[in-house]
This record gives sequence, C-alpha cells and structure tokens, in this order.
Amino acid sequence: MQLKENQFEIQGLNVPDICKEFGTPLYVYDAQKIKQQVENLKKAFSGINLKIKYASKALTNISILKLIKSYGCEVDVVSMNEAKMAFLAGYKSNEILFTPSGVSFEEIEEAVEKGLMINIDSIPLLEKFGQQYGSSIPCCFRVNPHIQAGGNFKIQTGHKDSKFGISILQMDEVNAIISKYNIQLVGLHMHTGSDIKEFEAFIQGAELMFNLAKNHPNLKFIDFGSGFKVPYKKDEEGTDIFALGKLLKESYDKFTEEYGRAVEIWFEPGKYLVSECGHFFAPANIVKQGPTSAFVGLDSGLNHLIRPMMYDAYHEIFNVSNPNGELKRYNVVGYICETDNFGWDRELNEVRPGDIIGLKNAGAYCFSMSSNYNSRVRPAEVLVINGEAKLIRERETFEDLIEKQIDVFKEIPV
Ligand SMILES: *Cc1c(COP(=O)(O)O)cnc(C)c1O
Repeated sequence: MQLKENQFEIQGLNVPDICKEFGTPLYVYDAQKIKQQVENLKKAFSGINLKIKYASKALTNISILKLIKSYGCEVDVVSMNEAKMAFLAGYKSNEILFTPSGVSFEEIEEAVEKGLMINIDSIPLLEKFGQQYGSSIPCCFRVNPHIQAGGNFKIQTGHKDSKFGISILQMDEVNAIISKYNIQLVGLHMHTGSDIKEFEAFIQGAELMFNLAKNHPNLKFIDFGSGFKVPYKKDEEGTDIFALGKLLKESYDKFTEEYGRAVEIWFEPGKYLVSECGHFFAPANIVKQGPTSAFVGLDSGLNHLIRPMMYDAYHEIFNVSNPNGELKRYNVVGYICETDNFGWDRELNEVRPGDIIGLKNAGAYCFSMSSNYNSRVRPAEVLVINGEAKLIRERETFEDLIEKQIDVFKEIPV
C-alpha cells in the first residue's frame, strides 16, 4: 500500500474506492506482496533443497490457497477441514502435510486414507500409529526441541512445558517404538513458535535436528516449521531470513556431506507469507473525548480482529480518509461489550466520524480467527490481483447467523 497524492492505494487502486465498492468492514489482500514474500524465501534459501509449505491456518481462503499454490508452494494443514480446502484449491495429497495437535485417531485415519503426510505429535500416537499401520504408511514426528522463543507466551510452542511435540529427551522411547513396529520414518519436524526475531533460535534448532537426523537413515525431509517474524511497527525489523539462509546453508552442506544425501528442507511459513499483504478497513462510528483520553470507536471489534486483545499484538493504525490531518492521540476501540482496544494511545491524523480507519498486518490470523461474537457478521474479503480488486468472500448476513440454529419451541408449546 502506498500514499500517493494524499490517497492510499493498493496496486494503483484507491483504497476509499475499494471500501465503497465492497462495503466495510473489509479485509483487503495484496497478491503482489505475497508473491514478493515467496520470492524472498526462495532467494534466502537458495542452494538448499527447499520446499515451502504454507501454514494455511493463517489465512484459509480458497483463492489465497490457489494463489500461493501458483507461486510454487505446498501446504501445511492442522485439521482435515483445512486439508479439504487445500484439495479444493488443487493441492495434491503428496503436497499436504498434516500437523495436528492432539486430535482424535479418527482424524488421523482419515488423513491416512486421503494420502497426506502425517506429522506425529506424541508418543501415544506414535505407538497407536505403529500398531495400526506398521511399516505401510510413511510419517514424520514433531520434536519439541526445548527452545524458548517467540513473540508472546501463547504462541511459543517449543519450550519444555509446551503441549506440542515429543520432547527431545524422549528420543530413546521414540526409537524403540519405531523399531518395534518398523515404522517408516521419512521426516523430522519442529516448530518453535511464532514471531521469532532472533535467527539464532532457528540455527540452534537446525543443529539439533541435523544431529537427530543422523539416527534416522531414511529421511526424505527435515521440516523446520516457521515462526519468522515480520515487522509490525514502523522501523521494526523482522527475522533476517537472508542471514539465516546463509548460516543454514553452511550447516546444511556439512550435514549433507555426513548424511550422504541432500534431504529436502521444509519451512511452513504462515505469517511471513500473508501478514503484510493484508489490511483491515473499518469506519469510525464515534469520536469521543474523555477526561484523560480521546476514543475512536470503530464499526468493528474483537469479533473481526482479535490479535491485539488476545496476544497484545501491535497493529499499526492509520486514518485512510484524512492522511494530512493534524496528528492527535486516540485509543482505538471496538464495539464489542468488553474492552476490545485495537490500540492504546495511538497517534493518528485527526479522526472525524465516518473516516475509514486502516489496520496493517491484517493478513495472518485475523480473518481466520474471526467470530460471530455479539451476533455480528464477519466481513467480506477482497484480493487485489493484476490491478483489480476481486471479492473472495461475501460478507455474512443475519441468515448465516441463524442458519444452524434450531427452534425447539416450534414443536414444544410454551
Ligand atoms: C501455525 C503454524 C505455522 C505457522 O507459523 P507462523 O508463525 O505463522 O509462520 C507453522 N507450522 C505449524 C505446525 C503451525 O502450527
């Protein structure tokens, strides 16, 4: 997005015009930005036998899945419904990695039937998988490397008290189960968390995985998960993936020599691919001055974008309609009946009722975490591609809210 002659633009399209055409609140995604991120990753990890498995939970719209596929990526899913969406978007079963956490065995069986690569998250599941399938189905398992990293405790997944994966201290038990059932282990996986700026954490993880790999001679891939940080604040930096790529290549080359074969290296970026492509736009319903601070109340709330309230995430907020207005300080809040601040004490160009307010970094974990709380409908989504704005999800309606509800009192008189 660019500010050009006092107008915000996405691929040359005027943002207020997009908002007028599709209505607000509205999610708008820029395909160009996603493409650029994919290209950055490919460049950063060139010389490595790389596969990018888009973590589709970040933004699970079918058009986005197709778009990312067209850029040469595969996909990582965490539920069978996500897998079904990936199939609808054209991914083949061998392009889908299934990384569930503590799901029912029925879901695992369904994934096996559909031919997905199964990522095993616990010792009891490995045992059950061995009993059921023996050596007939290839799989990988998720290692908990005991590395503490990531932006917010709720999104740290690789420390010793995390529910995720099999502890690196339990590898003897894992090896015993693998031998007992002759399990066909073709991959190792780890995912330390999200929003990890320090690339050293990735290198530490990589070294650990390469070491572990030496005990498993038939690997096709090692999956380092993701967690790349992207900039949220002005002047903030994300993970330096180019520095990481360089160091990783050194470790990878060394490992390849020892292992005797160049295994594939997988990454599963979600946020890195789609965070910055997205903007969320909602009008200011009210502007009010309190005794100590001023408030901008948006025509939206945590039902549409929950990251600030759930993870204390920082999303840059700006006034689309008045880019040259005097700078003032506001708390930007939602309309939900609890404290749903999008931002505290933020500097914005003067906000007038009706102005369109934008939030940045609204591609990852924003729409996909939205809800119908307060019986509000979810917004529409628009993809800007080749200089055109295309609707990729309709705004919900009241009918959608009641569609699955059953009024028993139609049958029971009260
Ligand atoms: C959520 C998730 C990712 C993506 O993490 P980002 O921080 O969005 O890149 C990757 N792998 C797994 C297993 C995940 O659960």
